[in-house]
Amino acid sequence: MGHPVLLPQKHHVSKLITQHYHSRGHNGVACTAANVREKYWILGVHRLAKTVKYRCVTCKVLARKAESQVMASLPKERLAPFTPPFFYTSCDYFGPLQVKVGRNKVTKHCGVIFTCLNTRAVHLELSVDCSTMGVFAGPQAIFCNKRTTCTNTG
Ligand SMILES: [Zn+2]
Repeated sequence: MGHPVLLPQKHHVSKLITQHYHSRGHNGVACTAANVREKYWILGVHRLAKTVKYRCVTCKVLARKAESQVMASLPKERLAPFTPPFFYTSCDYFGPLQVKVGRNKVTKHCGVIFTCLNTRAVHLELSVDCSTMGVFAGPQAIFCNKRTTCTNTG
């Protein structure tokens, strides 16, 4: 084409032409202005291309940053690499469970799950009652028999 068509900046046709060239690839301001200038000479095309890009919803979606998960740092008990299993232990109750005692008697007991904070290993115990002595007497005795370095339960 010999001479490009001269258009004013603040005209609806100029805006539509710039939007058309911008929507062909949602490129930047300079690329949109260069594409427009192949056929048209819009006065102040850079400013018009900047306005079109600023108002383009697709460009806003494409330029948006990806969301990232906000996490707290792990406690020191979770990052103890050279400790034996169940050195740092947490416990929780579940149930109640129906346990058959003797021939005809059925009672309710709670289960206790112990998890190793470092290796995520699991140990299950059956608690006779939910009192404090019942919580810590039986399972901790078993743990201390198996793992003599049991120091932290809670
Ligand atoms: Zn765009």
